[in-house]
Amino acid sequence: MSPDASSRRVVLATRNAHKVDELRRILAPSGITLIGLDEFPDAGEVAETGATFAENALLKAHAAAAATGLVAIADDSGIAVDALNGMPGVLSVYWAGRARDDAANLQLVLEQIENVPDERRGAAFVCAAAAATPDGREVVVEGRVEGSLLRAPRGAGGFGYDPIFVPMGESRTTAEMSAAEKDAISHRGAAFRSLLPLLDELLSTAP
Ligand code: IMP
Repeated sequence: MSPDASSRRVVLATRNAHKVDELRRILAPSGITLIGLDEFPDAGEVAETGATFAENALLKAHAAAAATGLVAIADDSGIAVDALNGMPGVLSVYWAGRARDDAANLQLVLEQIENVPDERRGAAFVCAAAAATPDGREVVVEGRVEGSLLRAPRGAGGFGYDPIFVPMGESRTTAEMSAAEKDAISHRGAAFRSLLPLLDELLSTAP
């Protein structure tokens, strides 16, 4: 590998192969070689104890950079419901308990906002994307997609809260869109696209 290519190796702080693939697609134009944490079996899990998406993304990025000696990127995401004062937020994945049960999480949110009228059913998918260097430097940005919540699930694609989320200006839920259509408007895509120039700067000054 040429020194230039090796200096553009970045580790993504996840063991989820789908996330690595998705981020490879988003970062493809940058010439960055993205490596999953699976290639570093000794790197431990990080508790997501932050109060915000940004704090959690930074926790994961710093831990992966320290464990691998590479520049690391990480994300943290969820849904923020207006009528629930921005919750479930960082608790999105565990909203109905520790089981990571997408259907139960979605059902609980629907019950909690059952009596909320249509004009106050706003919500946003939010994603923080962070990068960190082994010597402790960091950047973090946020991507959002605004929308509103239906009263019953619709669509078989996506995951999590997709079947009840209709992006602003759309009539379909994100579960009724193709992966490419969702990628083009998603909070994750927006966050990592705005992270790219900052990540480039970190890579060009990494020791
Ligand atoms: P994570 O950042 O991948 O851990 O996602 C946290 C949780 O937020 C997921 O388990 C979902 O419940 C929710 N979430 C994040 N992104 C999306 C999305 O694109 N669609 C639906 N739900 C999402």
